[in-house]
Amino acid sequence: MKKSLLIFSFVLLGVTVLNSCGSNSAKEKPSATKEVASVQYTCPMHSEVISDKPGDCPKCGMALVEKK
Ligand SMILES: [Zn+2]
Repeated sequence: MKKSLLIFSFVLLGVTVLNSCGSNSAKEKPSATKEVASVQYTCPMHSEVISDKPGDCPKCGMALVEKK
């Protein structure tokens, strides 16, 4: 009975180590905070039309799209 308990604790330890490794690698991934910084909207037909908020193009009335 003692042996099975030892094996169980080893498995538990292994799972804990694997979990901590997984969370560490996830934290290293770059966050998507850069996208929030400054989003500009432009008309697909008129690249000179730039707005800092979504709306319609003053020239053709098309919906402005997010500039990338
Ligand atoms: Zn336009």
